[in-house]
Order: sequence, then C-alpha cells, then structure tokens
Amino acid sequence: YDEIDHSRDVRAGHDIVARVAAHIEDQQIRNRGTIGGNCCLSDPTNNLPPLLVALDATMNIRSAGGSRQVAAEDFFKGYFLTALEPGELLTSITIPPLRSGVGAGYVSVAVAADSKAIVRAAVRVEVKGVIVEARVVLARVASVPVRHRGMEDALRGAPPTAESVRAAAATIGDEVEPISDSHGSSQYRREMARVVAQRAVLEAIAEGGGK
Ligand SMILES: Cc1cc2nc3c(=O)[nH]c(=O)nc-3n(C[C@H](O)[C@H](O)[C@H](O)COP(=O)(O)OP(=O)(O)OC[C@H]3O[C@@H](n4cnc5c(N)ncnc54)[C@H](O)[C@@H]3O)c2cc1C
Repeated sequence: YDEIDHSRDVRAGHDIVARVAAHIEDQQIRNRGTIGGNCCLSDPTNNLPPLLVALDATMNIRSAGGSRQVAAEDFFKGYFLTALEPGELLTSITIPPLRSGVGAGYVSVAVAADSKAIVRAAVRVEVKGVIVEARVVLARVASVPVRHRGMEDALRGAPPTAESVRAAAATIGDEVEPISDSHGSSQYRREMARVVAQRAVLEAIAEGGGK
C-alpha cells in the first residue's frame, strides 16, 4: 500500500486509489499489504475491493493453463471467497482511466480513524450537464461489495446537485440488509449507507469538475 501511496503513476491516473491505500490501518500494515492480497483475501472490511468495483476494474488472472480476466464486480464471491480457482494467481489489475467529467468518491464510517469500516461507499460518476453514468458500490452491507442499482438509476439523468443526490440516496431501503454487531445495528448501517453514498457521490461530482 505504501508503494501505491507514493507512486507518481497511480497518483496521476487514479489519485483515489493512492488516497485509499494511504489510509489502510497503520504504517506497519501499509509496508506489507498488497493490493492483490487485499482483494484475494476478500475480507468484507477491506478497503480496496469496493473501490475497484466502483472503478470498473478488471482482475487479470493466470494459471499454468492460461490466463483469463474477471470484472472486479464478479471477482468477490463471499466472505474470504473469490472467483479464483485452485492454481490461479491474480497477476495484475487494470483500472480504466477517469475521463474528463468523471470523478470518484470514497467515504466510510469507521470504528476509528484508518480502521475497519462499519459501512462505506465507493462511487464513480460521470457528469455532462446532468449525471450521465453512476456506479454506486456499498460495502459492509453484505459479504461482498454490492452495486446499488436503484440509486444508480435515480442518479442517471439527474442534475448534479445536493438535492437530487440526497433523493437518489433515499432509494437505499430495506433491500439492503446489513448485519448487526457490536459496532452498529443493521438499521444504523442502512441509514449510514445512505449518508456515505450521498457524500461519496458529491465528492465524485466535485472531483470530476461537476459540470
Ligand atoms: C491488524 C490488521 C488490521 C487490518 N486492517 C485492515 C483494514 O482496515 N483495511 C484493509 O483493507 N485491510 C486491513 N488489513 C488487511 C491487510 O491490509 C491485508 O490486505 C491483508 O492481510 C492481505 O495482506 P497481503 O497483501 O500481505 O496478502 P497475503 O496475506 O499474503 O494474502 C492474503 C490471501 O490472498 C492470497 N493471495 C495474495 N496475493 C495473491 C495473488 N496475487 N493471487 C492469488 N492469491 C493471492 C494468499 O494466498 C492469502 O490466502 C488488516 C490486517 C491486519 C493484520
């Protein structure tokens, strides 16, 4: 994670990936942890999987038998479970460039600063006068990062304003069924999912230029 944080190429192309890597746990973890391990572990609390789904990344996989590609959206299969088959290695991850007018956002409610998230949202939004495309990914509301199609549909065609983003976030309802634990009830997590999704979309709109 530390190499990602300090990579000029990552900072230039996908600053948000470096920013997220820079806040994974503490410096000792960042000295050792890798983006591949972060994904292959498929721990639902890990920081990078929802971001890679939001950015529409492709996971490049190799084995003795050949190579294949899996969309990040299809890579995470469950708690500590991925699409990797025995004998396969994740060798690289391809993230499409963020075109002009496209921004990304990432907001968490965490147990403590730089620690495990209670709920988080990672998004990618394209604005051309109105919001033309949105990928809204929620994490910690299920065993894997999930896209919220209802909010994505509500954003598409809407003006890039706080009011319309708030209205779109209100589509996050009872179909989202997070677990309850000592850090927060299911209902609290669902309410916070609306808050982080809204903030992440506004962050993405601002980052993309908002016009
Ligand atoms: C105290 C603590 C707190 C943490 N907090 C956070 C946190 O808040 N957020 C967060 O995101 N992470 C957190 N982590 C997890 C950590 O950041 C690492 O992502 C995770 O442990 C994976 O580490 P690694 O990259 O060394 O992979 P490894 O531990 O080496 O690998 C993890 C698994 O993936 C497999 N694997 C690794 N690379 C590949 C590959 N290229 N192809 C196929 N399989 C592969 C390994 O065989 C293993 O099964 C925390 C870890 C610790 C110990």
